[in-house]
Amino acid sequence: MASTGATTLVNPATGRGFREVHSVTEAEADAAIESAHAAFPSWRDLPPGERARLLRAFAAVVDAHNEELARLEVENSGHTIGNARWEAGNVRDVLNYYSATPERLVGKQIPVAGGVDITFHEPLGVVGVIVPWNFPMPIAGWGFAPALAAGNTVVLKPAELTPLTAIRIGELALEAGLPPGVFTVVPGKGSVVGNRFVTHPDVHKVVFTGSTEVGKQIMAGCAEQVKHVTLELGGKSANIVFADADVAAAAAEAPGAVFDNAGQDCCARSRILVQRSVYDEFLGRLETAVRDWRVIDPADESSQMGPMVSAGQRDSVLQYVDGATVAFSGDAPSGDGFWLPAMVVESSGVAEPVWREEVFGPLVAVMAFDDEDEAVALANDSDYGLSGSIYTGDLGRALRVSRGVQTGNLSVNSHASVRYWTPFGGYKMSGLGRELGPDAPYAFTEEKNVFIAT
Ligand code: NAD
Repeated sequence: MASTGATTLVNPATGRGFREVHSVTEAEADAAIESAHAAFPSWRDLPPGERARLLRAFAAVVDAHNEELARLEVENSGHTIGNARWEAGNVRDVLNYYSATPERLVGKQIPVAGGVDITFHEPLGVVGVIVPWNFPMPIAGWGFAPALAAGNTVVLKPAELTPLTAIRIGELALEAGLPPGVFTVVPGKGSVVGNRFVTHPDVHKVVFTGSTEVGKQIMAGCAEQVKHVTLELGGKSANIVFADADVAAAAAEAPGAVFDNAGQDCCARSRILVQRSVYDEFLGRLETAVRDWRVIDPADESSQMGPMVSAGQRDSVLQYVDGATVAFSGDAPSGDGFWLPAMVVESSGVAEPVWREEVFGPLVAVMAFDDEDEAVALANDSDYGLSGSIYTGDLGRALRVSRGVQTGNLSVNSHASVRYWTPFGGYKMSGLGRELGPDAPYAFTEEKNVFIAT
């Protein structure tokens, strides 16, 4: 049934409501899908150079509004201003990158007897993109930019908690000259709007980023119509530090690998595995780095971490803290807002919830290992497989362990996992399909094969 009403948005840094946003009803979601369906043929049939030009114009308008978008994200999501500027810039960059797609979406000519065989990559139609609250701008762009570039129209549902930047980007698309119906932002509930993307027969693909639990429901729903689906789900990634690594560098970088965005990051390296012979040295250096980690007002230029997105998310993290022994933690503001400090737990065993489950907050579990085989086995002892890091000075080991760890995105002597021009996605319960990189637009097409007898 349709749901009506409005959501009150709360500033996570103050805990105070600041804006009401209309929650789209089922009938309104249907209307948005129908206008995207109506806009599809003319968007698909635009000359490739013209579609490319419109995407570049869209990127330029997003760029011109970088500061406005970043400020909205600070207020709505509690992201640090530095991160939020990067996130708006990422939308611009992803649009620019995929603006090169329309003129390069080439098929093949395959040798055959008695004729000519050629392939075409044809857009699917309407693509529904469902976005979580943790990275409202980048995750939206990773879906809509390659989908639009490949000739699809898009309906996009932001998370209930964090719709403001997506709504603004939808307005900027029109300002840039995209025809109405080509890209429509539809804020509302998952059970109403998101569910309609799954059940409406005129949506031909669902791109879902969010929890593994909801992702399974989306996949089951899409199966009813044999609908295309991409899932980007949870993670419990390992940061493996070998004794032959630059231990000081590994410890200095570890907070950024897990506490960025207050740990509300599917790629957070929330398990740190340290070779026993350097365990004490690593932990000592990590403690210094964690105490220096600046958890302050996210609007402050020097802030490294803001609040949790909501009281609910803060309380969910605190449940893990209750059952664990915190070895040390950093500082955080007290008083209003959904604040937590950066926290480090020494894990006593692999059965502990803090070791196994995705906490999605600023809490990291550390454990010692003895040799390479054990490190790989511990890293792989997880339902998830999204990202991870390996710190070592031995190139052979870096390659062996990279091949051994069952995860989609690994970094050696680094914790950066996402570049828009390289593929991104998970193994196991972390997802299905890949986003970003040179091949992403093909995931928004059907490949058609045509044989012409000569
Ligand atoms: P969530 O699964 O609760 O919600 C995600 C989105 O799905 C929201 O827009 C929500 O409204 C919508 N939704 C909820 N129920 C739905 C339904 N029945 N049908 C259709 N849509 C529905 O997740 P969340 O709490 O917003 O986000 C946190 C989770 O997202 C974490 O588990 C995190 O790991 C994951 N995540 C994964 C990636 C990745 O790329 N792998 C990136 C970011 C976040």
